[in-house]
Amino acid sequence: MKKSSRLISVIFAVLTLSFLMAFSTSAANTQANLTLKASNVENGIQLTWNEIEGVRFYAIFRKEASEKSLYCIKTLTETKFTDENVIAGKRYGYRVFPVFPNSVIGTKSNDVHMYRLGTPKYNQPVNAYEGIRLTWSASAGAEGYYIFRKTATGNVWNYLGRTNAKTLTFTDKKVNANEIYSYSIRSYRGSDISHYNNLMNVSFLPTPKITKAVPNKDNITVSWNKAENAAFYMLFRRSASEKNFTLVKTLNANELTYVDKNVTQGTVYYYLVRSVSETRQISGIESKATSCLFMSVSPITSATNVSNGVKLVWTKVNGAHGYVVYRRETSSTTWKCVLKVKGVSTLTATDKTAANGKEYVYVTRGYYNNVQGPFDLNGYKMLYLAPVQNLKVESKGSSGNYLTWTANKSATKYLVFRKTDKTSWQALGYTTKNSALDKTAKEGTVYTYTIRAFYNTSYCSAACATANSNGIDPKGKMVALTYDDGPSNSVTNDILDILQKYKGKATFFVVGSRISSSYQPMQRAVKMGCEIGNHTYSHIDLPSYYYDDIRYEIDTTNSLVKKYTGVTPKIVRAPGGSTDSYSRQAVNMPFIYWSIDTRDWESRSASSVISIVKSSVEDGDIILMHDIYDSTAEASETIIPWLVNQGYQLVTVSELMQYRGIKMQNAVSYSNAYR
Ligand code: ZN
Repeated sequence: MKKSSRLISVIFAVLTLSFLMAFSTSAANTQANLTLKASNVENGIQLTWNEIEGVRFYAIFRKEASEKSLYCIKTLTETKFTDENVIAGKRYGYRVFPVFPNSVIGTKSNDVHMYRLGTPKYNQPVNAYEGIRLTWSASAGAEGYYIFRKTATGNVWNYLGRTNAKTLTFTDKKVNANEIYSYSIRSYRGSDISHYNNLMNVSFLPTPKITKAVPNKDNITVSWNKAENAAFYMLFRRSASEKNFTLVKTLNANELTYVDKNVTQGTVYYYLVRSVSETRQISGIESKATSCLFMSVSPITSATNVSNGVKLVWTKVNGAHGYVVYRRETSSTTWKCVLKVKGVSTLTATDKTAANGKEYVYVTRGYYNNVQGPFDLNGYKMLYLAPVQNLKVESKGSSGNYLTWTANKSATKYLVFRKTDKTSWQALGYTTKNSALDKTAKEGTVYTYTIRAFYNTSYCSAACATANSNGIDPKGKMVALTYDDGPSNSVTNDILDILQKYKGKATFFVVGSRISSSYQPMQRAVKMGCEIGNHTYSHIDLPSYYYDDIRYEIDTTNSLVKKYTGVTPKIVRAPGGSTDSYSRQAVNMPFIYWSIDTRDWESRSASSVISIVKSSVEDGDIILMHDIYDSTAEASETIIPWLVNQGYQLVTVSELMQYRGIKMQNAVSYSNAYR
């Protein structure tokens, strides 16, 4: 039978399809349908069909996509055939004929078409952080791959997804640690699918997650979450300068922390933990290792009370991203974070939330990412004392300067300091009251004072805002009112009355010839702190006179002022503002001009003078008026309170120049002290 069927197969092999078609109807009426099926198996394309009664053998025909005709490739009596002579990625068409005794050819089967697809070869699946990772090698002819899964107890293969031809990996993320899975990966092309090899009994071993890595004084302590099904854990580490992780320690399933003492200050370490199951499966790793800088303690080296809080200075922590400052009240055990400072090199900051009179313990810690370094529990003890407020100085004439300030309720005593523009700060002494009398102050000298509050001898506040003995705020607005051609017993006194009422000062450029009959208001002006300037003896036009005459005019006036007030004028104003270089050299004193000319001598109108001042005054102005007209005294009654109300300090010309840092020189002219 085998010999004869081989013979007939040879005959069939040379028959054409048309020949078969012509003879194929001979047994048609009695034959059942021949249903052909094809599928990819391990070693080729397998064909199966139903058995036909009375058949002698079956003839299998095949055609490749590129061929025009079907060829007989095999005759056989079985109902199953595997075509091993196939090339992966090629498509084949098949048809089967039943052949009855006497070479009667039955009705053909249906045609089937099938791509030859190889079976994917799997690698051992691995536990990844996200789930079970499957990998396989490429299967020739595949357009892509289907992934199926079933549980050990289930019967149904569930479709999980598919990949393209180039993607030879798939991670099953919907896994849990207590289930055992089987996987099947099949290549596909069009609607055709490869044979399968099942991956049986794969289980998922979750990755332990590191919860923290904390730097302590002599170690880094690493902790992680318990991972299901772990028989033990492996802790890996690398330092920032190392490329690869190395195994540090293997730990039992009940150990969830490790104290790493093999660490160096200023070094960043990265940690990973993997779990290992009883069957020696190994878990995946976290996508990002947990980093930790081994930080030193950062002791505070100094704490100082400054105007707005407690200024702290501490020690550098190598490698830190910055620092956090904690404080607690000495009476409490609760720490409070009060400052966060960015940058490893910033080693100072001021705690502006400290309360006056409260004693605190401060500590600083380096931080790296969100982890803070160790600290010295003893900390740095500091009591915040706010600076003294509202220091005021009042001149008591020959008795000295009287100082008052607002008491700091937490201070036990105060230390008073004083300086002049020629001397540096000098401590005058302690007081327990919130006032002091500086008996050593000399009349005519301007002193600047400041106070420091003390708590016992341990703590000292910052210096307070300074106050001058002349009551001037050096940073404030100021103008110099100047009055020429006096003194005048009536008008000068009227003006001094107004100045006295508003605590203002002015400069009077006096005419020497008027002094012997009107010295009283000049003396009063000096006692009030006003300045006397020289306006020549007989109000001369300086450029019209010779040297000796000019000297006489200046010297006589200076002597008279000195005689009646004890003070020699330091500045001069040329009558009519008229000078030349010769006369300036002859006078050899600073010449004071003006920046606002009220023209009071011309208008003799108070309202005109007021209007000119109000519309043009600026910080640093020198205003020209004359204390010989009643209209000028009347204007001053309005101008002086108005200027004070506008925030102007009424100062003498010399004070104006001094506070604006202008050092006047002889024979040089000055007309304002703008900033
Ligand atoms: Zn004049």
